[in-house]
This record gives sequence, structure tokens and C-alpha cells, in this order.
Amino acid sequence: MSKPLRTRRTVVAILAVCLLAGAFVAWATARVSERILLDEIGLRAAASLDLQAATLESLLDKYRILPPLMARRPDVVDISIGRDREAAHRIAAITAGMTGAEEIRFLSADGSLIASSEFDAVGTPLDNEIRQAVDQAREGRLGRQLLVTTPGRPASYIFASAVRDRDTIVGVVAARVDLGRIEQAWALARDPVQALSRSGRIIVTNRPQWRGLQLELDGTRSELDTLRGRTEQRGPHLMVTLPDEGGRKLYLQASKVVPVLGWSVAVFFDASSVTRQVTTAVLIAVLLTLLATGLVWIIVERRMRVDAQLRGERAAALRLERRVRDRTRDLTRANARLGEEVREREAAETELRRTQDELVQTAKLATLGQMSAALSHEFNQPLAVIRSQADNADMLLQRGRAEEAGESLRKITAMVERMATISRTLKGFARKPGSEAGPVAVGPVIDEALMLLSPRIKRSNARVDFTRPVLDLAVRADAILLEQVIMNLLVNALDAVEDAHAGQADGGVVRIGAAREGAGDVVIRVEDDGPGIDEVTRGRIFDPFFTTKEVGAGLGLGLSIADKIVRELGGQLVLEEARPDRPGSVFSIRLPDASAEAAVS
Ligand code: ADP
Repeated sequence: MSKPLRTRRTVVAILAVCLLAGAFVAWATARVSERILLDEIGLRAAASLDLQAATLESLLDKYRILPPLMARRPDVVDISIGRDREAAHRIAAITAGMTGAEEIRFLSADGSLIASSEFDAVGTPLDNEIRQAVDQAREGRLGRQLLVTTPGRPASYIFASAVRDRDTIVGVVAARVDLGRIEQAWALARDPVQALSRSGRIIVTNRPQWRGLQLELDGTRSELDTLRGRTEQRGPHLMVTLPDEGGRKLYLQASKVVPVLGWSVAVFFDASSVTRQVTTAVLIAVLLTLLATGLVWIIVERRMRVDAQLRGERAAALRLERRVRDRTRDLTRANARLGEEVREREAAETELRRTQDELVQTAKLATLGQMSAALSHEFNQPLAVIRSQADNADMLLQRGRAEEAGESLRKITAMVERMATISRTLKGFARKPGSEAGPVAVGPVIDEALMLLSPRIKRSNARVDFTRPVLDLAVRADAILLEQVIMNLLVNALDAVEDAHAGQADGGVVRIGAAREGAGDVVIRVEDDGPGIDEVTRGRIFDPFFTTKEVGAGLGLGLSIADKIVRELGGQLVLEEARPDRPGSVFSIRLPDASAEAAVS
């Protein structure tokens, strides 16, 4: 939340700075470009002003010196003294024609007209209009006077000088100049030009409608106000708005005072293009600023994006690092736990192996117990027979019935023979425990097992079929251990058969046999027609302590021990696949064939 906020703030700040910079650039461009343009126009205006002022000055200068020069001519002095009107008129007309003056007048010392180049009027009363100039001349100065004869027409200017005879003023000579000639010269200038008299009246101008208008002395408020807009000072330049065809235009006013007359000449230079040019310059500057802003924006944005990406990557790397650290810690713990479990498992396995060894030992003892029970049964029966036959023989001998006594003695002998057989077996049994694996004849081992199990077999209703193998069939094994395995398989088969055939007349069959199979193997097979073994039980049948029998009836150790023994003998104990045509189960003991070795020994 705080990150986008910060970013937004940055963006707003950058935009604000850019806007301010843009505004400043626009303002500065406007100021500078206006200044440059106005300076340039000002220069041109100043040049034009000099030219126009010079035009005015040169014209007026020329006529300024005309009356004093004429006043020095002797014929003019004579005319003045003699008041020779004819001569005066002639000279005036010639001089006016030669100099281009509008009019030349000769006046008497009292100011009355003698003659004029304009008219032949002799004795015309003195025009009041030029009195000021005549008076100044009579006072000995250069007479000057502006003369507006017809309103709306260009004005005239009078220069007058006293005519002296020695030190006495005998007359006055005056020259009238038509200011319209200046206006004609100024008419060539495109922009307005004006000359203001000392009293602020427009005397000469190339704009006829301005002529004669009275301005305030400071030139700001005037009759021209209806024509002129407001004036304003821009730097060193005075700007004026003037009417133009169909509107108003901005002008730069340049003015200077013409010393000869004390007039102020002003030139108005068209500055309307300045606004347009300034606007263009500002537009260009703003566009450039916008462009620069865009560039800055792109750079800043890219920079911000790279920063954000870097920050994200750094955060992701940190997260990853933390996860790896956590995972490593978990793994280390799991490893430690696994190590612990492995150690426990190894200890349990050692314990199991030890227990199994003990159980093998116990099973051996159990076999011995079964065997001694069987032995006592096997011995007791013949002993009882021997005893009764001996008693019988004794009684028969006392009665002299030797023949019959002999019969009893033969029976005794048969019994003794049987006991001897048992004893031989027992001898063999006693000799075998602890002996090394070697060639063991399969037939006798099965015989012994069956004999040891005979009480169990007799107790059951089942039939045991022993298919005797070939005589020399031998395996590499330990006879006692093999016998133990076979006994275990037979007991399980009997249990299964009993279970399946309980309460039936047919007590079921257990088959045992042995034969050579494959290359160098002998297989002892124990089959029964019991209930068989389902798939689930199959998977666990060799597990220690797995039993389906009731408590006390089985420990679930038989098959696991048998399997261990067979594997130690280098063979395999296998529960064969169930077949639909064959009910019950088949266990096979596969051991190396040792028939050849047996034959040698
Ligand atoms: P125990 O006989 O003490 O139960 P075993 O390891 O000898 O232990 O046998 C384990 C189990 O295998 C028996 O409980 C029984 O369910 C099953 N079993 C072994 N042999 C057979 C067989 N021939 N027919 C059916 N089940 C059998």
C-alpha cells in the first residue's frame, strides 16, 4: 500500500516540477524572444526615425537660413527702404521659384506687407497669422511661426528675418515653407510618422487624419485616444496600439526631438508580428519542454520500473534463501530423525535376529520334546508287549507248553528288534544336532519326521501319503534342521486339512514327496487339500508371529523360522501358486542336490 503511494507521490512531484519548469520556460521564452524581437524592431525604428527626422531637419534648415540671407541683399534693403512693391514682388516671386518656398513676403518695419510671391496684392493688410514671426524678426531674432492656414490641409512654417540698413530695421523678409512636402517624403514610409510641436499638436504626419490633433505633452492622453489604444512601456521600448485597416495594430514608438524647431518626431514601427513570433517561440519552447518532460518521464519511469524489479528480485531471493534455510533445517532434522530411526531399526533387527536364533533353539527343544513324547510312546508299547509276552512265556514254560512259550519269546524278540530300530534312529538324531551341512538322504529324513509326528497323525483323521523318492536322493543340508522344517510343514498341513474336513468322514489327505528338479536342485513338496491360503494371507505368511490360529494353538513362528533355516542352507522355501484344479496349498523346499556327494561318502 505504501509503495504505490510513494510512487504516486513521486510521479505527482515530478509532474509538478515539469509543469513549473514548462511554465518558467514559456515565460522566459516569451520575455527573451519579445525582448530580442523588440530590440531588433527598435533598431529599425531608430534608423527610420533618424531618416525621417533628417528629412524634416534638412528641409527646415534650408528655409531657416533663406530669410537672413535675403535680408543681407542690398536690393532687398533698398526695397524695404523704398517700399518698392513691384521690385519686391518680382524678387519674391523669383526667390520662391528658385528655392521652392511656398511664399516669400517682404514687410515694412512696422509689419505691413510690401509684397508677396503669392499674389500681386499691394497694400494688403498684414495677415495677423504671421504676426508672431514678424514681431520676433523685428526684435532682431529669427522669426518662426507655425501657420495652419486651412484646417485639414498640411500646415506651413514661417521663418522671418529683419532687414537692416546699418543698425536700423527697415523691413522684414519672411519665407513660408509648405510642410506638405515633408509629408510627401514621409508618405513613402509604410508606418506612421508624426512631428509634434512644442505644444503637443501634430504638425506633420503621413497619416492625414492625425494632422492638427492636439496631444497631451507627455503624449499619452490625447485626442488621439479614440484612435490609439493604451501605450505601455516594455523595457526601453514604448508600445502603442494604433488603428489599422479593419482593426488595431501594435506599434513600437521611437521618438526624438529635432533641435532646430524643438519638435518631437515619432516613428511607429509595426510590431504586430512580435506577438505572433513570441507565441510561436513560446509554442516551440513549450513543445520542447513537453518533449523533454516526456523524455525525463520515460527515463524516470524506466528507472522506477527497474528499481521495482530489482526490489522484487531481491525480495524473492531473500524469500527463497529463507525457504532454502527452513527446508535445509527441516531436512537436517528429518535426516537426524531418519538416522535415529535407522539406528532403532538396526537395533530392532539385531534383537529380532537374536530372538529368531533363540526361537530356532526353542523350536529345536520343542522338536526334542515332541520326539521324547513319541519315543516314550514307541518304547512303552513294545515294553508293555515284552512284559506281557515274558509273563506269558514264563507261565507257558511252567505249564510245559514250550512251543507256545517260544511263540511269545519270538514276539519279544520282534519287539526288542523294533526298539533297537528306534534306538538307532535316536542315535542318529542325537548325533546330528550342531553338525555341519552335508549330504542328507531325503527319504530317511522324511521317515524320521513322519515317525516323530506319528502321534499327531494318529490323532487326526487325515491320511498322510508319502511318495518315497529314489533311494540315493540327497540334499545338501543339516538333517535335524531339515527334519524340523518338514515337520513344521506337515503340522501346518495337518492343521489345515483337519480344519477343512472337521466332522467329515473323509479326513482329508496330506501328500509329501521329493524329486530332482531343474539343474542340480531337489524339491521336497508338502501338499494338502485344506482350505488353501487367500491372497492377503499369502503376502504375510512368512512374517514372524503371523498366525490365523487361535491363541495358544500357534505362535506364527513356524514358517518364518522354516524360511530362515532353508535360506541358511542355501535353498528356498516357497508357497506355490494356488491352482483352481488343486484345492489346498503346496509348500516346496528347494535345496541343492547332493546325491553325488552322498554316493561318494
Ligand atoms: P502357526 O502354525 O503357529 O500359526 P506358521 O508360521 O507355521 O505359524 O503358520 C502361519 C500361518 O500360515 C498359519 O496360522 C496358517 O494360517 C497359515 N498356514 C500355514 N500352512 C498352511 C496350510 N498348509 N494351509 C493353510 N494355511 C496354512
